[in-house]
Amino acid sequence: MTEPNGSRRSDEEMLEGLLGPSDPELSCEECFAALDRYVELTIAAEAADERVPGMRAHLAGCPACAEDYRSLRDLLAADEVETPR
Ligand SMILES: [Zn+2]
Repeated sequence: MTEPNGSRRSDEEMLEGLLGPSDPELSCEECFAALDRYVELTIAAEAADERVPGMRAHLAGCPACAEDYRSLRDLLAADEVETPR
């Protein structure tokens, strides 16, 4: 009844995938709430990690939020560059 090939993720990993990193400095909710600001600061080359502490750590441990971060950053960055004059 055990899985000999070990291809299944352990319960612990599954749980972590659902709930986010085990000791997050931000929850996904907090991360999401601060994401706009964090991305704007990043694009403006401000000290984003100081202004939004814990965000970098959360993104490093949470693929879902990292994905959101990347798409938002790409969106806003493209906006900055392509603003027609
Ligand atoms: Zn998250």
